[in-house]
Amino acid sequence: MTSTAEKPAVQTLTHWLSGGPAEGTSGRTGPVYNPATGEVQALVPLASRAEVDRAVELATAAARTWRAAPLGKRAEVLFRFRDLLDRNREELARILTREHGKVHADALGEIARGIENVEYACGVPNLLKGGYSEQVSSGVDVYSIQQPLGVVAGITPFNFPAMVPLWMLANALACGNAFILKPSEKDPSASLFLAELLREAGLPDGVFSVVHGDKEAVDALLEHPGIAAVSFVGSTPIARNIYEKGTAHGKRVQALGGAKNHMLVLPDADVGMAADAAVSAAYGSAGERCMAISVLVAVGGVGDALVSAIQERLPALKVGPGDQPGNEMGPLITREHRDRVAGYIESAAKQGATVVVDGREQPFDGDGFFLGVSLLDHVTPEMEAYQDEIFGPVLCVVRANSYDEGLKFINENPYGNGTAIFTRDGGAARRFQFEVEVGMVGINVPIPVPVAYYSFGGWKASLFGDSHMYGPEGIKFYTRAKVVTSRWPDPASSRVDLGFPQNR
Ligand code: NAD
Repeated sequence: MTSTAEKPAVQTLTHWLSGGPAEGTSGRTGPVYNPATGEVQALVPLASRAEVDRAVELATAAARTWRAAPLGKRAEVLFRFRDLLDRNREELARILTREHGKVHADALGEIARGIENVEYACGVPNLLKGGYSEQVSSGVDVYSIQQPLGVVAGITPFNFPAMVPLWMLANALACGNAFILKPSEKDPSASLFLAELLREAGLPDGVFSVVHGDKEAVDALLEHPGIAAVSFVGSTPIARNIYEKGTAHGKRVQALGGAKNHMLVLPDADVGMAADAAVSAAYGSAGERCMAISVLVAVGGVGDALVSAIQERLPALKVGPGDQPGNEMGPLITREHRDRVAGYIESAAKQGATVVVDGREQPFDGDGFFLGVSLLDHVTPEMEAYQDEIFGPVLCVVRANSYDEGLKFINENPYGNGTAIFTRDGGAARRFQFEVEVGMVGINVPIPVPVAYYSFGGWKASLFGDSHMYGPEGIKFYTRAKVVTSRWPDPASSRVDLGFPQNR
């Protein structure tokens, strides 16, 4: 951390309040790196508690008018926002690559999946339709309505700086809430770009705010009585803490955590197809995806052929700066994270794993946070590389003698975000779907991120709270139900009746 008093040579970013940029006043900033060069390219202001209080105050006032905006008007803003996102894909992708490091094509993929959520939210007039029961008693009707919560907050991770905010904000705004986003301080510019597009789309000032920050800002949001609900996506220890603190302060909280996603490959699987899928899902985005495959469970005799097929594919992968055409994998997010990931290769080797491919051996020019891809075989559950979420381009292969033994690895793992099975046997796949204790399952699909009209969420230590994100559960999360019982009797029939109301 540096003090702004040191007159940084790089640009200092702003928060976004009342429909425009707002300079930070805390005096604290954090560095924003270009991971491909290792240079600090901007400073991000880190909000104080007082700045969070101000953001909540502004959002509270804006929420009062936004909840009264007709559904058609809210949908209109979202349709325009969708159109602006579509037209600005390239520019947004460049922002993602510059601060996150992911390659351009991958950034476009993230944006496409984010746009899906806006498209879903455009259907808000349909999504918020309630139920109506006529004549529940003589002359009495009952109906349910979904109302917004007020001011809600989203706290997002570095690895999807556009998509994860869109998972949250599209539905939150559609439902009539004001939304305060606290993005990752590692790649904060995408959120400011989204704010500009929302303004251009006609969202009234103050309905969407961006407050940058670290633990201080997050704690202030969690403790603020003016925030009704918090959506969080990030690592498991922080997710657990957010859930506990947010609910202790009376808030509705959905906190999505980390992962250790296993891909089970049965002996009858097509080895080439399974190898292609494993390589794509393990090393795409440098393994910094919560749905990345990090453990391959090879069942029966398939292990040796699979490891060879994966190994064969690795020399062809092009690792380098994300803005250079042809590169397939970029750098890691920070130097510390790169070194931490490299440490798992070291520890796995010491603990008895076979290092088939060592990413540390690939040379890179410059000071970017690059690490080549690694493949570890004969990994066992006691090893650190198996136990921890590595969140880097390291694929661990464990061997299982049977389907049951393979399934046990998955079900005994503390995480339960995503998993996949590769087989040509429909019966085995159906059994896996029934038995596996994981929230999102792929059958010959290595990264089964649900489309926007379903909901996204893991089980066990991958999600705290009972609500999955986006889709129907997102709409439910950002609204509360009200049930109205109504009658219009003739006053002449009125009488006192102390009995409990019954259906007559
Ligand atoms: P992180 O937990 O370090 O940070 C997430 C957010 O929490 C950021 O906004 C950060 O500023 C804030 N934060 C960090 N430390 C905090 C603290 N002590 N108190 C309060 N707030 C704090 O996660 P990350 O490194 O940005 O993202 C990677 C992690 O996110 C991985 O574990 C990955 O699996 C997970 N993730 C999960 C999903 C999912 O859907 N389950 C999706 C994407 C990423």
